[in-house]
Amino acid sequence: EKAKLPTPVNLVAQKELERLEKMDASSPDYTIGLNYIDYLLALPWHAFTDDNLDLKRAENILDSHHHGLQLVKERIAEYLAVRTLSSVADFQVLVVDDEEIARTNLAYVLKKDGYQVLTAANGLEAVEVLKQHHCDLVLTDLKMKEMDGIQLLEYARELEPRPEIVLITGYATVSSAVDALQKGAAHYLPKPIDLEELRATVRGIHQKKVHLTMTRSPVLCFAGPPGTGKTSVGCSIAQALQREFVRISLAGLRDEAEIRGHRRTYVGAMPGRIISEIKRVGVRNPVFMLDEIDKIGQDFRGDPASVLLEILDPEQNQRFVDNYLDVPFDLSGVMFIATANAVEKLPEPLLDRMEVIHFPSYTAREKRMIAKHYLIPRQMREHALTSRKIEFTEGALNKLIEDYTLEAGLRNLERQIATVCRKLARIYVRDEKDDPELKVDEPLLESLLGPRKFTHEIASAGRQVGVTTGLVWTEFGGEIISVEAGIMKGSQQLILTGSLGSVLRESAQTALSYIRSHAEDFSIDSDFFSGSDIHIHIPSGAVTKDGPSAGVTIAIALISLLTRKPARRDVALTGELTLSGRILPVSGIRDKLL
Ligand code: ADP
Repeated sequence: EKAKLPTPVNLVAQKELERLEKMDASSPDYTIGLNYIDYLLALPWHAFTDDNLDLKRAENILDSHHHGLQLVKERIAEYLAVRTLSSVADFQVLVVDDEEIARTNLAYVLKKDGYQVLTAANGLEAVEVLKQHHCDLVLTDLKMKEMDGIQLLEYARELEPRPEIVLITGYATVSSAVDALQKGAAHYLPKPIDLEELRATVRGIHQKKVHLTMTRSPVLCFAGPPGTGKTSVGCSIAQALQREFVRISLAGLRDEAEIRGHRRTYVGAMPGRIISEIKRVGVRNPVFMLDEIDKIGQDFRGDPASVLLEILDPEQNQRFVDNYLDVPFDLSGVMFIATANAVEKLPEPLLDRMEVIHFPSYTAREKRMIAKHYLIPRQMREHALTSRKIEFTEGALNKLIEDYTLEAGLRNLERQIATVCRKLARIYVRDEKDDPELKVDEPLLESLLGPRKFTHEIASAGRQVGVTTGLVWTEFGGEIISVEAGIMKGSQQLILTGSLGSVLRESAQTALSYIRSHAEDFSIDSDFFSGSDIHIHIPSGAVTKDGPSAGVTIAIALISLLTRKPARRDVALTGELTLSGRILPVSGIRDKLL
C-alpha cells in the first residue's frame, strides 16, 4: 500500500501475494515470487526529478565543461527552450461538478499549483466550454443531472486534440468507474477526494503531455570518433537539467533478453538492462545514454532494431514490457541519447527516429586549447598537484599531440597527460622537491614519456613508381593509406588484395577500364594489358576497407605504374572515379584532412 503501485501493477502484485500465502515457504517458487514482489515495490513508479529549465545556467554548464561543439550546444539549448514553453501555465483544466463548494475547492487547489482552470456546473455547460476552449484535462463528477460524466466522456473522446478525462466518483459507483476506464478515462478518484492524490494525478497527466510533446522530437544520436566528448556532453546535459544520468553500452550485445529481461519461468531470471538501471537510479526520468548503438553484436538473437525502436519511440515506450516484470513500465519520461561511431551501420528505421548530431574530429589547435583549459587542470587536480605551479610549454603540448597521440578524439591525450602528472608526483615525493614552479618542456616530456611513438612515415617515404597516397575515413577518424600497383606477365587478370570490400574492388576495375579506354591520352601503349596481370594491393591487410573514395588514388597508381613515372607521396588523394573519367565528391573530408 505504501508503494502506491499503479492499479494494474497492484493487481498483479496482490495476486502474486495471494499465491505465496498458499505456498510452502521453503519451495524455490516461493523465493522467486517474493523476489518478484520485492522488485515491483522497488521500482520508481512515481518518483521523478523536476527539470531545471534555467537556460542561462544550462549554457554555462555546457560551456564550462566543453570547448567548442557549438552546434551540439545550440541543439541542447533549443531542446530546453521548447521544454520551458510547454510548462504548467499552458495547461488548461476544466472542472465539472454540480456542487458549487466542491467545484470552487478543486479549482482553488489547481490554480494554486499554477494551472489555468475553467469551471462548469454540469455536462451541458461543460460541452459549451469545450466548444470554445481547448482543454488538456477535464476533471468531472460522475453523477450529475442533465448530462453525466460518462456522457461527457463520450462527447470529449471525439474532440481533436482529445483532452484527458479524470472521473470523480462515490464508492457506490466503482463499477461504473471501471466502465469509464474502459471507455477511455485516464483515471478515477474516489470521493471524498484526497487532495494530495488529486494533485499527483493532475501533475502526472501534465508531465505526460510535456514528455509527449518533447519526446515526439526525435531522439538525439551523437555520432563521431571515440574520445570526441559524446559521453561527457551527455553527462553535462543531465547535470544541466538536474536529472540522474545512466549509461549502458550496447557493444557486443547478443541477446534480446539482455535488454528486455528473461521470463520468470527461467531459473535465475532477471530484468533487462533498461529496467535494472531505472531501478538503480530510482527515478523514472533520467538521462539515459545508450552507448555504441552501432556495435550491437552481429549474432544478435532477435531483431535489435525492433527492440530499440520500442524503447526509443514515445508512442510505444509508454508501455514498455520487460519480460521479467511482465507489466508495462512507462519509459516516456526518460530522455534517451544514443551514441555511435558510424551511423551508416544503423538500420534505416532506427536512423529515421533519430536526429544525428555529428561530433567532429578535433584539430591540433582545438586539442591544444582543450588540453590547456580542461584536461591539464583536471589531471592536476586528480593528481593533487594543484598547489604547484606546473606549466606545459607550447612546444611540449604540440609534441604531446603530434608525437605521442594519433587520434581523432582526446582519450590518449588525456591518458598521456595523466602519465606525465603521475611521474611528476613521484619526482616531487622522491626528491623531496620543493620548488613550486616547474616548466614541462620538450626535453622533460621526452624523458618522462620515452621516445616519440608516432612518425610521419608515408610522406617521407620518397617517390616510387606505382605507389600513391590515399585518404580514407574510418569510424575512428581519418587515416592515410598507400595504394600499390604492380604489373607482371600473365593472362589479363586484375588481382586485388588487402581485405578489400566489393565497392572498392569495383572502383579498381573501373579505374583499370578507364585507363585502358583512355590509354592514348596518357601516352600508354593501348595494348598494355594483353599478356600481363595487374596486381593492386592496399597494405594493412588485416583491416577491411570499402567505399568508392579510393577510385582516383588507384587510377593514379596505375597511371604511374604504366607510364613509369613516380607519383608524389606527399600529396594524398580521395575521390570517386567514374568510367568516363569524372571525379565525384566524397564524404568525410574534414576527418580525412585532420
Ligand atoms: P566519447 O564518449 O566521444 O568517446 P568522452 O566523452 O569519453 O568521449 O571524452 C573523452 C574525454 O575528452 C573526456 O574526459 C572529456 O571530458 C574530454 N573532452 C572531449 N571533448 C571535449 C571538449 N570539447 N572540451 C573539453 N573536454 C572534452
